[in-house]
Amino acid sequence: MHRGLSVDLTGRTALVTGASSGIGAAVAEAYARSGARVYINYPDPSQTAPAEAVIAAIEAEGGEAMGVMADVSDEAQVDAMFATVESGSQSLDILVNNAGIAHSSPVESLAAMDFRRVMDVHALGTFLCSRAALRLMYGQGRGCIINTASQLAYIGAPGFAHYTAAKGAILSFTRSLALEVGERDVPVNAVAPGATMTPILADVPDDVLDGIKANIPAGKIADVADIVGAYLFLASDAARHFRGQCISPNGGDALL
Ligand code: NAD
Repeated sequence: MHRGLSVDLTGRTALVTGASSGIGAAVAEAYARSGARVYINYPDPSQTAPAEAVIAAIEAEGGEAMGVMADVSDEAQVDAMFATVESGSQSLDILVNNAGIAHSSPVESLAAMDFRRVMDVHALGTFLCSRAALRLMYGQGRGCIINTASQLAYIGAPGFAHYTAAKGAILSFTRSLALEVGERDVPVNAVAPGATMTPILADVPDDVLDGIKANIPAGKIADVADIVGAYLFLASDAARHFRGQCISPNGGDALL
């Protein structure tokens, strides 16, 4: 059995968007295990029960977690979420922009509203949450932001032009924001996971998953446990000289 990366986040407050399932839930649990108090963001009432299950799992291990509902693509809901964090914790040390959606469609039949929705959740959501977080982090003089891209932003994928465009936007946003932050103690970086077994892959047929797996040098599609180390590292003091970078746990699928 692997031992996970051990980092000390004692006394830190983290907000993980889209934390009621998949990578976000695993990152939130890992942060809580490392000593952080964690806000579990979820988009709507359909995710209340899964979010409560994540909170219960964290509390069962002696950690501290709170749920906060907001659609990250909605400016008013995002600002209300950060007001909740500010009044509840007075500080925010770590923002993980993780919320995401994906579906496959060839460009010639992709509806404009579906393109827009994918851009809104990923790119606009990352911007809105980052803007709100910066207002807190600049005020307190420290913090960090970790965005979630995808290796597909680098290598493309048929049927996912809208998704990869949104992830490419997140990568460019990460780089420019890291430069804009400058000398302030607020590193901004990204993680670009490779294929990872989460609900986002639920509709992918088994033969397609087998094809993906066959092309991964490590010989497996990642579990969330294979991904969280990147988020732990980037949230830790050890990553303080990383600025505008993207690290990609992907089993060697894409050599970035
Ligand atoms: P997931 O479906 O388990 O998690 C996505 C989460 O985002 C869900 O909990 C969902 O409720 C939440 N969400 C969706 N829309 C939202 C909104 N508008 N506001 C707030 N929350 C919202 O899938 P996952 O694989 O854990 O995905 C997490 C992130 O990792 C996504 O950004 C995804 O694009 C990215 N990613 C996943 C893979 C993979 O293969 N699983 C690979 C690369 C990148």
